[in-house]
Amino acid sequence: MTKKYVIGVDLGGTKIAAGLATKTGKIINELEILTEAKEGHKEVINRIIESIYAVAGKKIKQVGKIGVGAPGTVDYKEGRVLYPPNLPGWKEINLRDLLKKEFHVPVYVDNDANCAALAEAKFGAGQNISNFVYVTISTGIGGGIVINKKIYRGTIGAAGEIGHISIQREGKTCSCGQIGHFEGLAAGGAINQQYGVSPIEVHEAAQRKKRWAFKIINELADTIGLGFANIVNILNPELIIVGGGISNMGELLLQPIRFALRKYALPLPYSSVKIVRAKLGTKAGLKGAIALCLK
Ligand SMILES: [Zn+2]
Repeated sequence: MTKKYVIGVDLGGTKIAAGLATKTGKIINELEILTEAKEGHKEVINRIIESIYAVAGKKIKQVGKIGVGAPGTVDYKEGRVLYPPNLPGWKEINLRDLLKKEFHVPVYVDNDANCAALAEAKFGAGQNISNFVYVTISTGIGGGIVINKKIYRGTIGAAGEIGHISIQREGKTCSCGQIGHFEGLAAGGAINQQYGVSPIEVHEAAQRKKRWAFKIINELADTIGLGFANIVNILNPELIIVGGGISNMGELLLQPIRFALRKYALPLPYSSVKIVRAKLGTKAGLKGAIALCLK
């Protein structure tokens, strides 16, 4: 690639973030606009195109590649965004071809959690680690699997749906409509539902040493440890990197997760895995979209 720059776009249900970066991944300009998802896919795609022109400015002719992180399942090989739950009206849209037609450069489209995992691999907690699993716990739970330093996407791009690990035969309905999934039991939404407090309130109360908060954290950590045990037993990763809003609790949450993991996982994969916090915070998605262009 002779052109000097790449562009990453993090497409979310609420916001579109775009970044202009050098070929080493250093962001030199970035912006954020509202997605206006309710306006439908054509309008959202126009907004993505506008955000790319705006963030590149006069450097647009020096942009050699574009990477996009999109919600839901993405067919990476074909560049198609399948059925993103938070983008109404989107159905198997070939975002790659649409952007290629406009900008005439290679375009890569991947799932946003895969992008965040890739960003942690290139710039964050997963640097120099061959095998790890990235798990983001916020309103929902998402994930990305890195095997031999590459994202494992599965047959159609649907791998890494860690939020939908089935850990109960009965119980709460998950956002996907099934019962007993990890996300329905351990994500931020589940905490709100079950305890009537937000994860931020729990964190603040724990910092003030409130006992009820520790009780919630321990119950939550036990469920997360159970979910992680499934990952650890199957993949034997070196790290599980925990991102998303709930990871802001840091060691308050990670330490009891380790205890729970010990209880539920097999001894050998348990003893060889570390549970660590993600390093890139809310920028992981954008940095990962940029990282798609850097291989
Ligand atoms: Zn589910």
